[in-house]
Amino acid sequence: MDVLNEKNLDRIMDLCAKKDIKLDSNEIDKVKALFNTGDDQKIREENILKAKTMLFRSILPPEASQKHVQIAGALIVSVDQALKHQINFWDNDLSDETKNYYLRFFSPDSPIKMDILSQTLEPREIVDSLDKIYPTVYDNLLDRVRPYIKENMPDEGAAMFLRLLPFEAKNAKRAGRFENAWYYDFLEACSKHGYTSMLPRFIDSNFKDDLLQYKLKTTRKKVEDFTMADLMREEDYLIPHEPRDQKNFKNFREISAETLMSMADPALYELRPYQNELVSNALSGKNTIICAPTGSGKTVVAVDIIMKHLKSYREERKVARVVMFVPTVPLVNQQTIRLVEYMRGTYWIDGLSGAEVVPTRCGVVLAADVVVMTPQIFINMMNSVVKGERLYISDFTMFIFDECHHCDEAHPYKILMDSVHDFKGPKPQIIGLTASLGIGANPRSQAACADHLIKMCANLNAECISTVQKHESSLLQYVQPPEDVVLSVSRPTTDEFANLIKQNMLIIQMEMTPMLKEIQQSKAVILRPDEIGIPKDPMSTNYQTIVGTLRSKLTSLADASRRHKLLRAIDHLRFYYHALALNDLLPSSYAFKYLEEKMSHQKQVVQKNEFNLEYMKKYEDIREDLLKLTRHENIETKGILKHLHEQLDNQYKNNNMSRTLIFVTTRAGAQLLADYLNKTDKLPHLHNGKQKVQVVGFVTSSNQSASASGQSNEMQREMLQKFDTGSIKVLVATSVAEEGLDISACNLIIKYNNVGSERSLIQRRGRARARDSKSVLLAVEGAVAQQEFQNMRSEALMHKTIKELQHESQQHLLSKIQTKIEVQRKNRELEEMRKAEKRRELEDRRYLLKCCVCSARICESRRIRALADDKYVCCDPEFWKRCNIKDDEDPKKAGVSTICGKIYCKCGQLWGTVIRYSNVFLPALVSNYFIMERFDREDLEAGHVSNKKTWRLIEQECFNIARLDDNNLREMYNALKQIAADQYERMEQQEQIANQRALDRYEEKRAARKERPKVILLDD
Ligand SMILES: [Zn+2]
Repeated sequence: MDVLNEKNLDRIMDLCAKKDIKLDSNEIDKVKALFNTGDDQKIREENILKAKTMLFRSILPPEASQKHVQIAGALIVSVDQALKHQINFWDNDLSDETKNYYLRFFSPDSPIKMDILSQTLEPREIVDSLDKIYPTVYDNLLDRVRPYIKENMPDEGAAMFLRLLPFEAKNAKRAGRFENAWYYDFLEACSKHGYTSMLPRFIDSNFKDDLLQYKLKTTRKKVEDFTMADLMREEDYLIPHEPRDQKNFKNFREISAETLMSMADPALYELRPYQNELVSNALSGKNTIICAPTGSGKTVVAVDIIMKHLKSYREERKVARVVMFVPTVPLVNQQTIRLVEYMRGTYWIDGLSGAEVVPTRCGVVLAADVVVMTPQIFINMMNSVVKGERLYISDFTMFIFDECHHCDEAHPYKILMDSVHDFKGPKPQIIGLTASLGIGANPRSQAACADHLIKMCANLNAECISTVQKHESSLLQYVQPPEDVVLSVSRPTTDEFANLIKQNMLIIQMEMTPMLKEIQQSKAVILRPDEIGIPKDPMSTNYQTIVGTLRSKLTSLADASRRHKLLRAIDHLRFYYHALALNDLLPSSYAFKYLEEKMSHQKQVVQKNEFNLEYMKKYEDIREDLLKLTRHENIETKGILKHLHEQLDNQYKNNNMSRTLIFVTTRAGAQLLADYLNKTDKLPHLHNGKQKVQVVGFVTSSNQSASASGQSNEMQREMLQKFDTGSIKVLVATSVAEEGLDISACNLIIKYNNVGSERSLIQRRGRARARDSKSVLLAVEGAVAQQEFQNMRSEALMHKTIKELQHESQQHLLSKIQTKIEVQRKNRELEEMRKAEKRRELEDRRYLLKCCVCSARICESRRIRALADDKYVCCDPEFWKRCNIKDDEDPKKAGVSTICGKIYCKCGQLWGTVIRYSNVFLPALVSNYFIMERFDREDLEAGHVSNKKTWRLIEQECFNIARLDDNNLREMYNALKQIAADQYERMEQQEQIANQRALDRYEEKRAARKERPKVILLDD
C-alpha cells in the first residue's frame, strides 16, 4: 500500500519528528504545493509523482541510516517496499540494468523478501568475506557498515549494506569491471561463508548457473588482459619440501546451500576383525598393497587409514594432505561421496573429474584435506607451466591408489609412480587397494607369479602385501563367495543360416588365395605363410586376428587395383564374421539385420567400386534365403539362448525382485541382447505379464560416441539408477561394469559367452553380493569355458603365491622389492641415456613438413613442440598465413587445452586442429597429414621424403621435439590475432561454445552433484 500521498502528509511529518528525523521545511512546502497544483489531469499526475519523489528523498536521503529506512518502511508497509521505492525514486543515480539487478532482491509476490534478507544477513560475515575475496574494492561500502558492527547493531548494518550495495555499480564501471559485479560478488561472498551461504539461493534459486555464467564471462575478460606474468618462471620450479597449508586456500572451498540445510552427522563405522587386520600395516606407516575381495569393505578400510593419518598430523600441528587416485572418471564422484559420508564435519573432501569449470584446479586441490582424482589430471598439473596451477608430490603426505593393479606397463598410475620413485623431496606414504593383483602375462610357474607380485610391489613402492590371514572366518562371514557354474553349450547341429554365410566366406577366401600367394612370392608385401592361411572355419579362435593383420599389411600394397579388390574382400569377410558371431548368441534375425545395415551402407558409400559390386552380388545371392530362415527359426535350437531363458526365468519365478547382471563382450552385443530380452515371450516370469514394459537395460563404456553404441554418462547414470530402484531388473553390460560403476547387489551374474582375465572373475563374483547369489558362465563350445577354468586356476595360484611371500621374512621380501626397484630405476636411467644419445644423433636433422596432398609448406621441424597430453603444435607465427581455419563442429575442452577449430591446407587437405592452451591459440598437427623432406644435408637424394604414422615414431627416428615452453607461448601469443583478426574472433567464439558445452555437461551432472554433499568444517 502506498501511503506517500497528500492525505498522509501530516502523519509522515509527525512520525519523522518523533524519530528525530529533520525534514527540510522548504522542501515540504514545495511538496505540498506540488500535490495541489495542475489543472490538467496529466500535469497533475506528473506533479504528484514529483512530489512523492521529493518527499521520499527527504525521508530517505542517500546518507540515510536504518532509522530512516524504518520510517520509510512504517509508511510504506515494509522495509522491502521502502527500499524498492528507493530505486524508483533515485532514478538518476542507477542505470536501468542496475535497477533490474537490484530488483532481484525483491519479490513481486512476497512483499517481505528484502525484509528477510536484511534480517538474516550477518554484516560481520559479509564484510569479512567480501574483504577477503575483493580486498580494497568495497572499502567505501564496508567502511560505512563497520560502525554498526562495532556498535553491535547488526540489523542496521545489514540494512545499510543492502541499501548501498547497488551504488557500487558506478565504482565497478569506473574500474572497468562489469557494471553489476556487485551483485555477483555479493552472491559469491555469501556462498563462501557458512551462515550466509543459503542467502544466494533465497535471492535466486538458479543462482549457481548464473554465477557460473558470469564467471565464465569474466574469466574471458581476464584472458584478454592476460600477460606472461602468469607463466612459471625459473624460481617457481623449486620444489617445496612441505605440503602447502590448506589455510591459505580456503577461498576455493565451495559450499552449496542445499547441502547446508540437509547436513547430517558423519556416518560412524566400526572395523570388522578382518578389516583391522587389513589396516594394521598401513597404520604403522608402511607402504602397502591391500588385497581383499570385492565386497569386503575396502572403502571403510581406506577411510580408517586416511582419518588416522590426518589426525596424527593434526596432533603434531603439521600439514597433511591425502589424494585418492581412481582409474576412471565416474569413480571420482562415487568415491568422493563415500569419503564425505564418513568424514564430513572434520575434514574437507573434494573431487576433480576434469569436467568442472573452476578458475584454478590447483586451488581446489590445495584447499582440501582429501582430494579424489584421476592420475591423468594429477600428471597434467604436475607438469603445468602456468604459475599457480602446478602441483608437487610434496604437497601430499599420502597417496591412495584405488584399483591399484593398474599400476603397470604404461598406465598413468605407473607413470605417476615413476615420478614418485625419481622425486628427490619427501615422499608420501603409498597405499594400494585391489581385489586382485593378477598373476602376470606369462605365468608359467609359481616363481613367475611371485616375480609379478614383487614387481607390482616395486611399482607401488610397497613394502608388503596386506591380506586377511588370521581372520579368514570373519571375512567369510561377511563375504560369501557365490556359487560358480560353468555351462558349456554346443552349437545347433544344423544351422542353415550360418552355413549359407560360411559358404559365401569360403568362396571369397578361395578367390583371394591365388592372389595372396602371388603377392607373397613377388614380395610386393612381406607376408608370412601363416598370414595368408585364412582358416577355413571362421569360428576358430584366431580367425579375426589373422584377417585383421592381413588387412593392415595389404594397405601398403602398391598395385592399386589388387589392393582395392583384396581390401574389399576382407571387409566382406569381416561383415560375415561378425554376423556369425551375433548368430551364435542371438536369434538369426539380429545377424540378418546387422548384415542388411552393413550392406546398405556399402551400397551408398562405395557403390562405384567394381569389386564392391562383385561382392555385393554374392550377398544378394543368399539374401532371400537368409531372410526366409530368420522367419522360421526355432530359437531354442540355440543351446545358449535356451539356457539363458531357463536361468532367467527360474530366477524370477523364485524371486521376482531379483537383480541380474549379464556380461557380454561388445557394446553392440549389450544393446542387442537387451533388446531381445525385452521383446522375447520366453521369459514370462521376468516380464510378469507386462510385455511392453522395459525390464532389461544395458550399460556400455561412456567414452565412445553414442553412434558407436556407446552411452553418455547421463544415459549410463539413468540406467544404473533404474536398476537400483528396480524398474530395470536385468542389466546387460560390457567390461566397464566390472569395476567402478556402482552396481547394487545382484542375485544372479551371467557371463554370456564372455570371460575376461582372472581378475575380472574375482571382480564379477564380487558383484554378486546378495545372499544366495549365483554366478553362471554360459559359453558356446571350447575356448571361452576353457579360459574360465584357467582363470579359476590363476586365482588360486595368486592366493597361494601371496601367502608364501607373506611367510618369507620381511627382510627378505623387502630386499627383493628393493632390488626390483633398483633394476627399474636403472632401466629408466638407461632409457633416458638412450634417449639422450638418440637426441644427440638427431640433433642436426632438419625437415620440412609438407602437405601430404599438394606438398605445400607447413613448417620446419625445429618449430614443432610437444604439449602435455600427446599434442604436437607448430610454434611458427607465420604458420597462420599458410592455412585455412574452419570452425570445429564440436568444440570442446580436452585435457589441458580446448579444441576450437580445424586447420586445412589451401588445397583442402586437413592438417590438424586449432587449440587454445594457456590462453594462446596454437595449431596442433596430425602426423598422418604431412610428409617430411630432409634438408640438412646436401648429399641426400633430392626430395628425400618420409612419412611416419605417429609422432612417437617421428620423435624416435627423425628429429628431436622439445617441450612447449614460455618463450614459445610468448611468440605465439598474439600471432593469430595479428595475422587474421576475424579468424581469431571466430576461434574465441568457438572457445566460448566449448565453455558453454562444459557448462551444459556441468548441468547434466547437477543431479549427481546434489547427491554429493560438501563438507562444513567445524573449525571454519
Ligand atoms: Zn595441400
